[in-house]
Amino acid sequence: MLSMLKKCFGTAQTRQLRRYGKIVTEVNAWDKAFASLSDEELKAKTSLFRKRLTQGETLEDLLPEAYAVVKGACRRLCGTEIDISGYNQRWDMVPYDVQILGAIAMHYGAIAEMQTGEGKTLTASLALYLNALSGKPVHLVTVNDYLAKRDCTWIGVVFSWLGLETKALTNDTSPQDRKQVYAADIVYGTASEFGFDYLRDNSMARSAAEQCQRGHFFAIIDEVDSILVDEARTPLIISGPTSGSRQMYDELKDEVFRLVKQQRDLCNKIASDAKKVIDSLSAESKRTKKQEELFSNATKQLWLVSKGMPQHKIVKRVKEDPDLRAELEKWDQYFHGETNKKERLELLADLFIIVDEKANEFELTDKGIQAWLQASTELTDSDFVMLDLGHEYSLIDSSSSSQEEKMQKKVTLREEDARRKERAHNLRQLFRAHLLMEKDVDYIVDEQKIVIIDENTGRPQPGRRFSDGLHQAIEAKEGVAVQGETQTYATITLQNYFRLYNKLAGMTGTAMTEANEFKEIYKLEVLAIPTHRSCQRKDFDDEIYMTEREKYAALLKDIQENHAKGRPMLIGTESVEASEKLSRILRQNKLEHTVLNAKHHEKEAEIIAQAGKKGAITVATNMAGRGTDIKLQDETAKQQGLYVIGTTRHQSRRIDRQLRGRCARQGDPGTSKFYVSFEDTLMRLFTSPRITAFLQRFRPPEGEAISAKILNKSIETAQKRVEQRNYAIRKHTLEYDDVMNKQRSEIYAFRGEVLHTKDVISLIHEVLDSLCHSMARTYLRDPASPDTWDLEGFREWLVMHFPLTLEAQEFDSSYLSAEEIENIAQRKILQMLHQKVHYLTQILEQGASPEMLPPDRIVHEIFRNLLIRHIDLHWQRHLLHIDHLRTEVHLRAVGQKDPLLEFKHEAFALFHSFSLQLKIEIAHALFKLQLAPPPKPKSEPRSVPFEPFKVQLSLLSEASDDE
Ligand code: ADP
Ligand code: MG
Repeated sequence: MLSMLKKCFGTAQTRQLRRYGKIVTEVNAWDKAFASLSDEELKAKTSLFRKRLTQGETLEDLLPEAYAVVKGACRRLCGTEIDISGYNQRWDMVPYDVQILGAIAMHYGAIAEMQTGEGKTLTASLALYLNALSGKPVHLVTVNDYLAKRDCTWIGVVFSWLGLETKALTNDTSPQDRKQVYAADIVYGTASEFGFDYLRDNSMARSAAEQCQRGHFFAIIDEVDSILVDEARTPLIISGPTSGSRQMYDELKDEVFRLVKQQRDLCNKIASDAKKVIDSLSAESKRTKKQEELFSNATKQLWLVSKGMPQHKIVKRVKEDPDLRAELEKWDQYFHGETNKKERLELLADLFIIVDEKANEFELTDKGIQAWLQASTELTDSDFVMLDLGHEYSLIDSSSSSQEEKMQKKVTLREEDARRKERAHNLRQLFRAHLLMEKDVDYIVDEQKIVIIDENTGRPQPGRRFSDGLHQAIEAKEGVAVQGETQTYATITLQNYFRLYNKLAGMTGTAMTEANEFKEIYKLEVLAIPTHRSCQRKDFDDEIYMTEREKYAALLKDIQENHAKGRPMLIGTESVEASEKLSRILRQNKLEHTVLNAKHHEKEAEIIAQAGKKGAITVATNMAGRGTDIKLQDETAKQQGLYVIGTTRHQSRRIDRQLRGRCARQGDPGTSKFYVSFEDTLMRLFTSPRITAFLQRFRPPEGEAISAKILNKSIETAQKRVEQRNYAIRKHTLEYDDVMNKQRSEIYAFRGEVLHTKDVISLIHEVLDSLCHSMARTYLRDPASPDTWDLEGFREWLVMHFPLTLEAQEFDSSYLSAEEIENIAQRKILQMLHQKVHYLTQILEQGASPEMLPPDRIVHEIFRNLLIRHIDLHWQRHLLHIDHLRTEVHLRAVGQKDPLLEFKHEAFALFHSFSLQLKIEIAHALFKLQLAPPPKPKSEPRSVPFEPFKVQLSLLSEASDDE
């Protein structure tokens, strides 16, 4: 079945390639035809194409000719000197057929899978040129600022020859320059620059002039897997300080540390006791029944330690022995499921905390909670018990207090509830920081700051923070300053940002393994493009060792041998910690090398460029230097090719492929090999007990590799399992974000309308109408049965919220329908609005002068400003509520409710009340709006003309709300 699917998949790919192949032939035919044109004539094609587009031709119609024009331009440019990021280079590229093929796939919105070194940068230029002819915004998304600048100057040569403007958008592009940058035909920049500009445009810009983006037509994402898969879990967030923070990380951190230490001491004791028993009994050739019991009990105790401290040294050491490993796994199976649940719970009750490394979770036992309460300086048993507010309120209601007292009590109770929740949440995050987050693996401490390390790329992510207080908790753990609680002003995930584009395309060396995800989430097909020259790379089978110690010994030997031959090597490691460990080993053995890890990434490109020299040893965290090509630089290197060594298998096959792909580019020689040990995280957590059984039979002599096909297969199975799990997590995050995405696009669309409309007053009219309508629905719920209507309520509401006079008899249900009543109310409100506008205009006319905007325009601007301020204020509050809700639903997860469903449901309700509240506040502010009398001209006439914008501010004195 599976192979049949594969075949279909395969043929679909082949069919597509054949179809596009025909277009390539067309392109080349045009290229020939254009050969006789002069440079000027070829350049003139750009404006000609643009004209044809306005006459009804489509981009698809133009594709073959346009691509041929780019190809021709490239040819004519050959030999031109260009300065790229400080290096002088000569243009020497004319697109190969496979590049044209890749560019066709991109135009049709696919991901072109092209190996490293195939020239994706040039490939993209064809599709960029074609799409930019439309005059609509075309963006190329790079992995970092360095590449945005490099590719922009490099490929920009072709574009400018053809009369298109290209700009690079980087972190140091100033806010004033950004509009200018986006005005260019083609913009190169990183995903976060594009994303943040979108957020700023839609949540901070106060006028259309302050917005910098022109919209989202076509984007090509370079290294698309790294951006849409690896970086998908951290959203972009613009945040600022919040008022009235309640966070308690600093005051809680010592107590958390104490309990974690208690647990560690306990585990150390259990483990060393058990180890002694095991050591003494292992020597016995035949054990008595009593000894057998002791032995079994000791391994059980070690199993317990593995539940309390999964990375405990003694447990790890013991697992090196296949027999003992099997014993521990026996306990895993014994305690799995319901049968021995009671015994398991009794045993686990010895611990303070149970840690589940695989699920990335932990839990305090009763003993842990008791220890916590005893040590707690604050006399409270409330850290782990939440209030049942509904129940407490009903108790208050049934008491004999006065209404006022009841109200007071409820407010106090609600504050207590919020405090407890915050405390419980801070506690959880502190424990998480201690138990599940590891320094130099998950984050580094850099200049007294916690910097996230991307788990896949090993890159530091300065400026990004773990969400939901985890970052603060780690700051408290590491003893650096805990940053104040922040409040989200605007947020979006990269996925949702990229979904804004009409058309999206991508390119990378590694997309196939995630093809399914690209299709499901982004509707992006992956097309594997053949290489220009056939690939000469040799991938060796993995070398697998029992222990890390043996693995490193073998690795070192391999490196020494190859280094002696002068062969350049690139060694991939999975974390900063691992790269430093390997570097230490190499230093001890006097092997000169360069380390490229998260801590040095400014020099990345430079180091990578040197990695192809004779005898060069480069140690790099996975994928460091993506986007920079490793060229073999001298004869020795060219003969032997680059040797890529992986020091462990990564959790994702894609990342391993990426590493392998760094060698053997463009038909060069090259080999790759992975070293694996049973102590590697992947093997520890995700391989099956069958492997242990296998090892028991085939434990090789110390230092020798185990080679068996079954192991290669089982590693791959483990990887697939983790990939699936990670996909599920990403999808889950996305599901949460989807809820917000709908709300965000709704509010941003409204805000955009406010900024861009000429007629703000009509917009306000609509807002008031819809407010009136929803309130009518509330008070006159069932239009068909007047006796259920609360007419008096509706009337009171109207009088309270608008400066209206409305007599009771004006709403007479005996002859008016619900709709008619609503219409009366709307008419009255509209009347008030017109009065207000009239009044404001009049005041402005008194102070009018020729330099000012006409008074009625100023009224529009004042209203626009008012709307924007209220939208922003209330939207930010709403985001804060949503943040709280997200935390809360997880605390609630205990009650067997699905947190996601709860979240969706309540987020919807919150949005509903947010939009109602927003309309009410707008109405209030609008009718409260007062203009100060115009400043009286002093005896001297003003010589400086009054700037309209300032007039608006100086006249505007909106009676302040209770905000
Ligand atoms: P990728 O992004 O696919 O890994 P790059 O775009 O960085 O590859 O290009 C790799 C190298 O190949 C560059 O040094 C570039 O000069 C060279 N190259 C790409 N296309 C061509 C071409 N058509 N002719 C000659 N050299 C090319
Ligand atoms: Mg590239």
